[in-house]
Amino acid sequence: MTAVKPAAKGSCDNASPMPTVVPTIIQPSLAAILSLPPGISGETPASLAAWIGEHGEPSFRVRQVLDAAWRTGAASAAEITTLPAPLREALATAFRWDTVADSELRLSDGGGTEKALHRLGDGIVVESVLMHFPASAGHRERNTLCISSQAGCAVGCPFCATGELGFGRDLLTAEILDQVRHAARRVAARGRRLTNIVFMGMGEPLLNLDRVLEAVEALNDPKRFGLGARHITVSTSGVVPGIRRLTALGPQFTLAVSLHAARDPLRDVLVPLNRRWPVADVVAAAREHAAATGRRITYEVTMIDGVNDTDLDAVAMATLLRGDLAHVNLIPMNPVAHTPWTASPMPVIDRFAARLRGAGIETTIRHNRGQEIGAACGQLAADHAGAPTPAVVAHRRERLVAQSAAALRGERSREPVPAGVGPGARGGNE
Ligand code: SAH
Ligand code: SF4
Repeated sequence: MTAVKPAAKGSCDNASPMPTVVPTIIQPSLAAILSLPPGISGETPASLAAWIGEHGEPSFRVRQVLDAAWRTGAASAAEITTLPAPLREALATAFRWDTVADSELRLSDGGGTEKALHRLGDGIVVESVLMHFPASAGHRERNTLCISSQAGCAVGCPFCATGELGFGRDLLTAEILDQVRHAARRVAARGRRLTNIVFMGMGEPLLNLDRVLEAVEALNDPKRFGLGARHITVSTSGVVPGIRRLTALGPQFTLAVSLHAARDPLRDVLVPLNRRWPVADVVAAAREHAAATGRRITYEVTMIDGVNDTDLDAVAMATLLRGDLAHVNLIPMNPVAHTPWTASPMPVIDRFAARLRGAGIETTIRHNRGQEIGAACGQLAADHAGAPTPAVVAHRRERLVAQSAAALRGERSREPVPAGVGPGARGGNE
């Protein structure tokens, strides 16, 4: 296992004399993790049936194994006492029963938010966040789990702790699903169940789309997790070919698009893959998705003081989304280290919301959960990875201030497209 420079921090700093923000993430190859036995939760009923058949066992064993993995909360194959001992042993050798292990749990919001730092088989760490929302007028209790699809992220949004880490690797299907099995066991111990799953943890799901789709299929499957498609949300920073692929597949889940800005000069800075897929193309693809699936698009806007909360930006967003089948969530920026930015004040967010509503756009102001445990995406993993030097941080801050000031003047970024999302990048091909 070697510590290497993150693949995609070039989005920040190619032409700079300063080093890019620290090589904070251990980047093992996917090959190392693929050499381990596969995780049981990545197996489909068909692949498990084939394996059971090869071992000369009757087909009803498939159901027993799936129930043990997904329903009873068995912690190992050895616990499935309904199976003959030789089959239990063969299962334990052929599959990893759990590909994530909670190395650290942190509680906040009076226990209503629980952040888990999961250490994977190769030592890399990812996060999931479990949020409990008590029943309120007209709403049932919700237990929402936010999961990661990649370790780190190539997109490099400068207000996001995961973006600062750079790209580590794609998660395997079982690693995505085992975050869910872990949380499901924790909530079951409290007599509750998971009601919603959102792909809003670390990583860009549409750049690991094959595995994310396999994971969604398992979450939907009544023989496995059995959660309705309406209770699953996948959030993307705007990978246009991925959105088009989802449109061709039909409704699978709610699609959320991290918009953050409706003007290209500013979105180039806030979401660097905008330099590859400009905001008009992203919204056009999302619009086609809504038209084809009949499902409303959710747009996420992280509100940053004096950066994307101006009247100019509210008008641009209202103009862009007017008449769309869309819902906008305005979310005050969670504090993250190493940015010059803070959350917009509430009166400013209220004014922004009023502008959007005035254009007939459904808008909700959301409050971030778990700030004191670093519930911003990737924050806890970033803390574990260690801090960059003060000089690097100061340089990063100066650059972001200069870039957002240029964006306010309407100047497009001259920074390159981040390495992991440029032409030829996996998942990024048209
Ligand atoms: N990569 C995907 C999904 C993971 S990020 C995406 O960007 O959509 C999930 C959400 O968390 C995104 O909307 C992202 O903009 C938001 N986010 C990241 N850092 C944040 C912060 N510091 N404060 C508030 N929201 C943040
Ligand atoms: Fe990646 Fe999403 Fe964070 Fe941007 S906000 S760096 S796309 S995880």
